[in-house]
Amino acid sequence: MTDMTPKERLFNALNDRPIDRIPTFCSGCSQTVTVESMEAIRVYWPEAHRDPGKMAELSRSTYDLTGLEVAGVPYCLSIEAEALGCYTDFGSKRDSIPQITGTPYTDFDEVVVPEDLLMAKRVPVILEAISILKERVGDTLPVVAGMTGPFTLAGHLSGIEPMLKGLIRKPDKYMGFIQLATEIGSIYGKALMEAGADVISIADPSASSDIISPRMFRGIVKPAIARIVEAIGGTSFLHICGNCTPILGDMAETGVNSISISDKVDARQAKGLVSGKAKITGNISTTVTLLLKGPEDVREECRAAIEAGVDILAPSCGISPVTPNRNIIALVDSARIHSLPSAGVP
Ligand SMILES: [Zn+2]
Repeated sequence: MTDMTPKERLFNALNDRPIDRIPTFCSGCSQTVTVESMEAIRVYWPEAHRDPGKMAELSRSTYDLTGLEVAGVPYCLSIEAEALGCYTDFGSKRDSIPQITGTPYTDFDEVVVPEDLLMAKRVPVILEAISILKERVGDTLPVVAGMTGPFTLAGHLSGIEPMLKGLIRKPDKYMGFIQLATEIGSIYGKALMEAGADVISIADPSASSDIISPRMFRGIVKPAIARIVEAIGGTSFLHICGNCTPILGDMAETGVNSISISDKVDARQAKGLVSGKAKITGNISTTVTLLLKGPEDVREECRAAIEAGVDILAPSCGISPVTPNRNIIALVDSARIHSLPSAGVP
């Protein structure tokens, strides 16, 4: 059992097979690298956002330098919206995460879908970075591809505020944006899998229960995510930021293998609500504990999360790029120190 690779450990945990300890992972809002790691290997943002070789090298550095058991791309939730013509700000600094800053569209039938989506803007960069990672670390590390959830992508295309208001006043117009985002997500998610990703991590921060009602999630977002999960046809995680306790059961019913929860969710309660439908990944605070506190605080929070029953120990969202590596190392140490072998281990 000591020879278990991170990839085996993760897939064993997902499939109720024996594990030697709890796996660590990151499936939040698609961000797994730090400026400290960039400086250590001399590969930096913003260049690595557009260069598949640099992206793969940087993604690999997370495991090499911190032990966090993941090789994840990309570092943002802007790939699909940029490919569809939304305005994107890449920033100029080593800690700049690309952001969607606006949309040229007021109606869904105006959206210009590229003839070959898989060749548009940074989509080929991501597909190539996945193939490189698959070849270099794919036997041992899970290669994770993050993608934008359908509600968030629809918000990028239509403007999130008009969409939130419009779904009540002009539902047909905004359902058009959501249907388009679902089709794009289905094509893109399948392509990520075919490029060699072991896991697809769908992040839909705009669908948080802090923003929309559980009823709206059930009626609009849940079926859209379920369609994308079906199109992906492989292992998938679903991450939604904030306190999503009211929709955890629905999130699990989309067919994903694991729900990635934020630190606003009570892990023990989450376990009960999801009840065997999906594994719980999380939920160590990225904005407070990992970013601002020290290794001791991280270990304490990890101990509590493991005791509460998280199946996969992970940051609560995408990692802030200015997180100190020592805190990520403390998270990985906690998995080794605090977790007990599963009952099935010989
Ligand atoms: Zn998040």
